[in-house]
Amino acid sequence: MNDYIKISGLEVYANHGVFPEENKLGQKFVISIKMCLDLSKASENDDLKQSVDYGEICGRVTQFTQNNTFKLIETLAYGITENLLDNYRLLTSVETTVEKPWAPVGLPLDTVSVTVKRRWHTAYVAVGSNMGDKEKYINTAIQSIDHAKGCHVKSISNLIVTEPYGVTDQPDFLNGALSVITYLEPHELLNLLQKLEQEALRVRERHWGPRTLDLDILLFDDKIISDNDLCVPHIDMQNREFVLKPLSEIAPYALHPIFRKTVLQMYSELKGATQ
Ligand code: ATP
Ligand code: CA
Ligand code: CA
Repeated sequence: MNDYIKISGLEVYANHGVFPEENKLGQKFVISIKMCLDLSKASENDDLKQSVDYGEICGRVTQFTQNNTFKLIETLAYGITENLLDNYRLLTSVETTVEKPWAPVGLPLDTVSVTVKRRWHTAYVAVGSNMGDKEKYINTAIQSIDHAKGCHVKSISNLIVTEPYGVTDQPDFLNGALSVITYLEPHELLNLLQKLEQEALRVRERHWGPRTLDLDILLFDDKIISDNDLCVPHIDMQNREFVLKPLSEIAPYALHPIFRKTVLQMYSELKGATQ
């Protein structure tokens, strides 16, 4: 998205800081915000409803800055960014800079500032369960993802019954896939999914063994990530019918950024190979 609205140098007197005097006496904060959104419709129709009201946003940001007391301008910058993304659905990304020109550093400086940028991403998540009330575990997880900060579940596949993969002497699985719109970063989404697995009392007794709930990130935009905690795209998705079948229902043309193949292509190739 190339269009944006920018608010520069909004001055707010507020009480953020690590020192108690800062929280009591307050000082000046200077806030600048860059908000990306598609402005073509607003300009075509000369219609404010198809854009965002920057006057209203200045008021909201001023109130948020004055109604909270944080130790760090980092926290303030994140808070403003998330508040705007949560409340203005037309915004595709928000970049917030908070300056603290009177920061008590004791040395001559113009200003100190923190900049935070967040944008909406599309992630695909696999859900699976093969213990207890499988459907309930899965539906509860879907609801919790939808209610979690910075997450909206956009579509849900049908759930399919599948025979266990890898370790086969265990009950059948119920599997499905979701698309999630989120401004969380990939590792934050992983943390959320792992927290939900724990809440479902998942017992991790053996790898690929029975579990109340398994939530895996399949794709995250076109990102490629490989570290100790997270591998995206999911390392084995191309070999799993129980992943590709539900995923092809909700995202047939989503592209695997390494293989450069759509979900549908991977699914038909896998079916061809296993027939
Ligand atoms: P598989 O990943 O082969 O489906 P699993 O889901 O049974 O196996 P888990 O025990 O749930 O494996 O997860 C093991 C670790 O995998 C997690 O702690 C997590 O850090 C890591 N991991 C790596 N990539 C991903 C991903 N894309 N989604 C979820 N977890 C991931
Ligand atoms: Ca898994
Ligand atoms: Ca997993």
